[in-house]
Amino acid sequence: MVQSLHIAICGAGPAGLSAALALKAQGHRITLFDQFEKPKPLGSGLILQPTGLAVLDWLGVGPRIRSLGARIDRLYGKACGSARVVLDVRYEVLGNLRGLAVHRAALFNVLHDAVKAAGVEVEPLSQIKDLEGTSLIVNEARREGPFDLVIDALGSRSPLIPHAAGPDYRSALAYGAIWSSLPWPGAPFNPNALEQRYDKASIMLGVLPIGRQHEEAVEQTAFFWSLKTDEFGMWREAGLEHWKSRVLGYWPECQPLMDAVSTPDQMVLASYHHHTLSIPYGERLVFIGDSAHSTSPQLGQGANMALLDVSALAFALKEHADLRDALSAYAAKRRFHVKLYQAMSRVFTPFYQSDSELLPLARDHLVASLSRIGPVQKILAAVVSGTLGLPSKLTER
Ligand SMILES: Cc1cc2nc3c(=O)[nH]c(=O)nc-3n(C[C@H](O)[C@H](O)[C@H](O)COP(=O)(O)OP(=O)(O)OC[C@H]3O[C@@H](n4cnc5c(N)ncnc54)[C@H](O)[C@@H]3O)c2cc1C
Repeated sequence: MVQSLHIAICGAGPAGLSAALALKAQGHRITLFDQFEKPKPLGSGLILQPTGLAVLDWLGVGPRIRSLGARIDRLYGKACGSARVVLDVRYEVLGNLRGLAVHRAALFNVLHDAVKAAGVEVEPLSQIKDLEGTSLIVNEARREGPFDLVIDALGSRSPLIPHAAGPDYRSALAYGAIWSSLPWPGAPFNPNALEQRYDKASIMLGVLPIGRQHEEAVEQTAFFWSLKTDEFGMWREAGLEHWKSRVLGYWPECQPLMDAVSTPDQMVLASYHHHTLSIPYGERLVFIGDSAHSTSPQLGQGANMALLDVSALAFALKEHADLRDALSAYAAKRRFHVKLYQAMSRVFTPFYQSDSELLPLARDHLVASLSRIGPVQKILAAVVSGTLGLPSKLTER
């Protein structure tokens, strides 16, 4: 095992918080930095896959997050107009594995409470600007460190990415989405399914039950509508009523959700891009989560990949006495799985979010028929669950 280190973790998202928990438990001294005055999550909901849940169980927070989230048994989507089922993935074909949809605030609260209880030093109001040697440049000119190891968990726009040992491959995606967390509407929506509707690949809307933000809160749903990021201004100008009538034209059952949207500010724009660091480490520096790799959320893997990174890094630091060996072992352990999911995300995303006329036609006919075949159902469920291409057990440590 690498000797006890003083580790700076930059970023209190799912990657940074779970790394703080895992590495504090290994006996390292941890200082966790985030730019927020009081660390808080951004965005609406996400699906924790069996991969991510296994890591959360290992960190000891699985039972609490399960008590807050909504169990997901099925991902189900229909083409508007033809009503053809073009997405139907059931976790049950994998046995007992299931997804869990959570509000980001629930995931954040559960991890943050555990980090505080473990005695991790948290430094809010700390915007990371750069790295000099192993010291962080924070806010305008504050210097923190030097540290034995800096972990970059600042997300896909991290300013530390240029310090990685290899190039960053990056491309922006034209389509993003507007999202909101709204009260759970009840029937006819399925409380254990992500449901989507599509018109070609340019319109996609979805309803995801996400459980409660905390123990006293009410059940919520994440509602999303895909949108080109450069058309967000036009969307606002066209007015809320115009948009609501389009939503209801596609999916009349969304009426209670539309009734809950009273201002455009409730719909938050998320933009996506693909990026991959060819070597996710540098000198006493390592990248985890979205700072190492990010994709469109079509396959719903981002937070789960971040959790798998944490598990792999903790395992490598435990297995190797030399830090350099540990970082290289971490990268090697994650390489194949990350590349596989990056590639699948690039292939699948245009079928669901693009201007193509042909790809959605293929999706509606070919993919729909193929996905009714038993072995294909198993492969699709393995892709969605995040387990495809994992080297060994879910979270070997
Ligand atoms: C709309 C949408 C839907 C998604 N759906 C899913 C899903 O269903 N399943 C799934 O697994 N993933 C999903 N994802 C992806 C998932 O949200 C990310 O992969 C995940 O949040 C990455 O975690 P992270 O901790 O690496 O980074 P982040 O969550 O981005 O956290 C980064 C942290 O660093 C802080 N920070 C950033 N810059 C600085 C700075 N310079 N100084 C100090 N602090 C800073 C931020 O405040 C934040 O706390 C979705 C993403 C989007 C946008």
